[in-house]
Formats: sequence, structure tokens, C-alpha cells
Amino acid sequence: MIAFQNVSKVYENHSASTALNSVTFKIEPNEFVSLVGRSGAGKSTIIKMLIGEDRPTKGRVIFGSYEVNKLKNHELPFLRRHIGVVFQDFRLLPHKNAYENVAFALEVAGSPQQEIDELVPQVLDLVGLSERMYNFPHELSGGERQRVAIARAMIHRPEVVVADEPTGNLDPFNTWEIIKLLAKINELGTTVILATHDKEVINFLKRRVITIDKGEIIRDEEKGKFILA
Ligand code: ADP
Repeated sequence: MIAFQNVSKVYENHSASTALNSVTFKIEPNEFVSLVGRSGAGKSTIIKMLIGEDRPTKGRVIFGSYEVNKLKNHELPFLRRHIGVVFQDFRLLPHKNAYENVAFALEVAGSPQQEIDELVPQVLDLVGLSERMYNFPHELSGGERQRVAIARAMIHRPEVVVADEPTGNLDPFNTWEIIKLLAKINELGTTVILATHDKEVINFLKRRVITIDKGEIIRDEEKGKFILA
């Protein structure tokens, strides 16, 4: 279970800017939740708070038995095994092929070679990339690169996958392929949190939608529709 309890985030730069203002919500296991809002609304900030990349100025972020806002830096890798993250710009290592990009996530976690040999082909099969596993990122389409990133996010069998504008760099065809893949991952038992401002994607999914505007939740609907004035 994920819970944000009155989470506020103020960035202190030249002038203080409030990225989140007392945000409260809960996400139950196996939900598929979209975070919707204009650019600058606060979607990425919510994700950063959830994965412990940054800390709230106020409030609590709960992930299962963890209170994320209190974790020390050396404790974050434990949290990150439970949350797979996918970004708009894929963030693959350019000099490693698809297989090696996914394997690397296990290597840094100290997994034995036998486990790597077993799991990497399984997860690449899950995302439909068995045929392309020895290709390098520059040899793959945008959609295929995002599949590699999703495979990497899934390698620790996380309870939650968080995708921050994962289709932002993709054409409509690849957008649908990636959204269908996220829906499949959710059906197989993983919570999915999708930050997007793609109206068609939201209306297609017909799942819960949390709408954020200027750092506040302005709507939270089951089977939501994309409504932004
Ligand atoms: P979204 O993901 O919805 O586009 P963000 O969460 O990235 O929105 O940003 C929310 C607000 O916080 C914006 O006004 C943005 O300019 C501000 N912001 C985000 N990150 C920082 C930062 N590191 N320093 C200062 N302001 C930031």
C-alpha cells in the first residue's frame, strides 16, 4: 500500500516555489492509477517523493512498511527493489545491448550469474523483446527501447511500476504498444502508476485518474476521464 499524507514540497531556489501542497492519497495493491496534469503540475515531484529521490518539506510518504521520507540514503536500494521506474527518455546504457542493460540491474544488486542467466531472458520475453535482446539501444526503435526499460524495471519483480511520461517520446503506434504492455503487467499482479498528459491514453484505460493542478489534487476518480480545462 502506498500513502501520501499531507505531502508538501517547496523548492527553495531564488524564490520558494511550491511544487506540492498538502497532497493526500492512497493506492492499494494491484491498482492501475494515472497521474494527470499539465506540465509543471507536480507529477514528477510525486514520483520523486515516492521513490525517495527527494524528500518532502512536510508530510509522510508510506510504501508498505517503509516510511520513505525517513529512509537514509543507504536504505534506498532496498526500497528501489520494490519499485520499478520507467522514464520518458528510457535511460538505457548506450554501450550495453538490451540483454546487458537488463542484466546490469541484477549485477549491481549482487545477483548470482545463474539467476541472471535465468531471469533476463524471461523478462525480455515478457516485454516481447526475445528477438532483439542482443541489439544495442541505437539499433532499437523508441518503443523497443522503452520495452527494455520496462524489462529492467520488472527485473526485481517489484510490487509497483512507476512510469513517468513513458510514451512522451513515442509515436502513436508505439504509445499503444507500451500502454498495452503496462496494462498486461498490471493484470499479472503489479501496481502501475502512470504519469501522463496524453488524453487518449487516459480515456482508453478507463482506470483510476488522479488529476493534479498547481501541486494539488483537484480530482480523484475511479474509471476517470481526462478532464483538463
Ligand atoms: P510535472 O511532472 O507535472 O511536469 P514537476 O513535478 O516536474 O511537474 O514540477 C512541479 C513544479 O515544481 C514546477 O513548477 C517545477 O518548476 C518545480 N520544480 C520541480 N523540480 C524542481 C527543482 N529541482 N527545483 C526547483 N523547482 C522545481
